[in-house]
Amino acid sequence: MAPIRIAVAGVGKIARDQHLPAIAASPDFLLAAVIDLHDPQLTVPWFATLDALLDQGPAIDAVVLCTPPQVRYALAAAAISHGLHVFLEKPPGATLAEVELLRTAAHDRGVSLFAAWHSRFAAAVEPARTWLAQRTIRSVHIVWREDVRVWHPGQAWIWQAGGLGVFDPGINALSIATAILPQPFFLTRATLLVPANRAAPIAADLAFTDSRQTPITMDLDWRQTGPQTWDIVVDTDAGRLELTHGGRVMTGSDEVQRGTDGEYAGLYRRFATLVHTHASDVDIAPLRHVADAFLLGQRTRVDAFVD
Ligand code: NAP
Repeated sequence: MAPIRIAVAGVGKIARDQHLPAIAASPDFLLAAVIDLHDPQLTVPWFATLDALLDQGPAIDAVVLCTPPQVRYALAAAAISHGLHVFLEKPPGATLAEVELLRTAAHDRGVSLFAAWHSRFAAAVEPARTWLAQRTIRSVHIVWREDVRVWHPGQAWIWQAGGLGVFDPGINALSIATAILPQPFFLTRATLLVPANRAAPIAADLAFTDSRQTPITMDLDWRQTGPQTWDIVVDTDAGRLELTHGGRVMTGSDEVQRGTDGEYAGLYRRFATLVHTHASDVDIAPLRHVADAFLLGQRTRVDAFVD
């Protein structure tokens, strides 16, 4: 089968760290072009806009959008209208409604739309889901603490409306929690800590529950230096499951799983399958929880953030 000719839009940190290497290593894809506001100085043709690529560039079958979420909808809608398959980095958009519109548009145009949640492809997530499916959940504690200066150096968009602030990494924890917990859950309380000079939260404290009144807490913080913490601890009727290292390591009462970090290889295998089977994969559950946090959350001002 001929490789899927793909263009990468938004050649920033995640495109360079993960997407370009994953595409280069994949037998299913061929990098045909890149789109960015500035020339990223790669060996493939560069275009400043999708329109310019469609007018003057090589033929493509698909596009992966690694731009900030605030500009994703316009690019995705244009790509779908031109019959291209679309892979959306997380979060899939700036609003829930725009992602739902894209899902409908892709279906109507007969192309694949993949709203990717890379953390769901971490090695221990599926084993954790399988183990928890047979258990009664007693409590869940999520701690996601990382250093914004390491993961988002100098990025302005992440602090602006639609950038999500600390929910940009926090949504990864929610993408795992919504995949592994056997019951749907909902937000009951949220406190958002917003720096005096920024629009988006730098930390958040959240409580969720489900129809069985299971307590689920979530501690998000972007001010952690040194070792980073990406842990989900689930107490069950059969003991404790600890999913650590962002979903890569699972320690249960009766089993341990370790895996290498193959998240983006798994994402591209999934996207290839979707394209070949003319299917889409669009789950907005993690983004819905974030939207609820912005709806329900109490905002507290904290010290200005110095980049
Ligand atoms: P980034 O470093 O700021 O990169 C974004 C890129 O998109 C920049 O090159 C930017 O160009 C370009 N861009 C902006 N508007 C554009 C447009 N209209 N058309 C084409 N290109 C445009 O951000 P990032 O960290 O890679 O994050 C991008 C997405 O990946 C976010 O949704 C984020 O949540 C997700 N993600 C990030 C990480 C991470 O570790 N950073 C991990 C997983 C997922 P300029 O710089 O010239 O504005």
